Amino acid sequence: MSDRVRVSILGATGSVGASALDVASTQCEGAPAFEVVAVTANTRVDELARAAIKARAKVAVIADEAGYGALKSALAGSGIEAAAGGNALIEAAGRDADVVVAGIVGIAGLPTTLAAIRQGANVALANKESMVCAGALLRAEAREAGANLLPIDSEHNAIFQVLDRPERVDKLILTASGGPFRSASMSEMASATPEQACAHPNWSMGAKISVDSATMMNKGLELIEAAYLFDVPESRIEVLIHPQSIIHSLVAYDDGSVLAQLGLPDMRTPISYAMSWPSRMPLPGRERLDLAKIGRLDFSPPDNQRFPALRLARSAVSEGGGAPIVLNGANEVAVAAFLQRRIGFLTISEVAGQVLEVFLNGHSGRPDPSTFEEVYDLDRWARQRTLEQLRLAA
Ligand code: NDP
Repeated sequence: MSDRVRVSILGATGSVGASALDVASTQCEGAPAFEVVAVTANTRVDELARAAIKARAKVAVIADEAGYGALKSALAGSGIEAAAGGNALIEAAGRDADVVVAGIVGIAGLPTTLAAIRQGANVALANKESMVCAGALLRAEAREAGANLLPIDSEHNAIFQVLDRPERVDKLILTASGGPFRSASMSEMASATPEQACAHPNWSMGAKISVDSATMMNKGLELIEAAYLFDVPESRIEVLIHPQSIIHSLVAYDDGSVLAQLGLPDMRTPISYAMSWPSRMPLPGRERLDLAKIGRLDFSPPDNQRFPALRLARSAVSEGGGAPIVLNGANEVAVAAFLQRRIGFLTISEVAGQVLEVFLNGHSGRPDPSTFEEVYDLDRWARQRTLEQLRLAA
């Protein structure tokens, strides 16, 4: 890598975005000097302007066009370019950069992830929903553009770090904390509030992924993401509950060796790994893992009865034909409705399962989508069907 590493951070106002900006500001011996090209957000203009000024970005883009005037005034005199709207977002993602951090949440991140890949950058991928919905298409695009897909999700990053002999892999083992409702009863979950669902025991994250962790749909999406990223069938990907979130995932080889990556739950570690790949950069001043202090690590199998999302994800990825897109779209709509207190917590997985079933009944044996347009069409169908199922207006 050259002296200065040019990085764009998509979703800069989010939880991943904040950690990526923090990593980019690291100044110490052995750390690359990062130069921030683009930062983006959806609606939060003030936070975006503050981040852009602090990082001395070249351009700041707000997806919501109504925010353009406010962004331009907030950046006046800073020398930072302001832009707004979907096309500006795609243009920013495709600007010349060495690394693009894809930190937008949901399938809304797919167009920019694609633009970053087409630019041939190292794409530090947090936006798992784009991989879930278009994994095969994105991998083909990356091959063509010579782009590297570098997972930021701590589990996939862990696997990426220890996957030195893909041809000898017996299975991948994704660890899961179990989320805030790991030991909750069905009746406790039935009355769970968004605040309770978002109170993750180990990680501080955005609202959508926090709810996904509580339903365990997050682990289901991660399972699909892992299948596409590492080209391993669902049947060879296991999920293991590990409440302390110290072992971030494991790879079991066919000689009986199992390699794991460990660390304290801090997203800056996987983010820095992806941002400095193929090097590894120091993160000074952070608490280090002390296993003697932790004393013990616990493991158990997941409970598929209380957390049906994992089973749904397995069935979606093994059926293929766009089923993961449908599951993801239904889940995004249901999670948003739960966060707006329009549906209960258990309804999220219930309705995602119903919509997936309707799709699989009508589209069995269908080939995988071969274009991004087909991906967006299926996503639209799933969203509409979920709203109908929930009897909610769009
Ligand atoms: P947040 O909700 O904290 O942040 C999301 C970011 O995306 C914000 O900058 C937001 O802007 C922007 N955004 C939201 N919707 C749109 C849109 N329609 N168009 C453009 N930008 C949009 O999410 P997280 O940082 O928690 O998660 C981001 C992604 O990373 C998710 O896919 C998640 O699954 C994944 N991930 C997150 C981890 C974490 O620790 N948080 C860990 C592993 C993976 P605004 O602020 O204006 O709304």
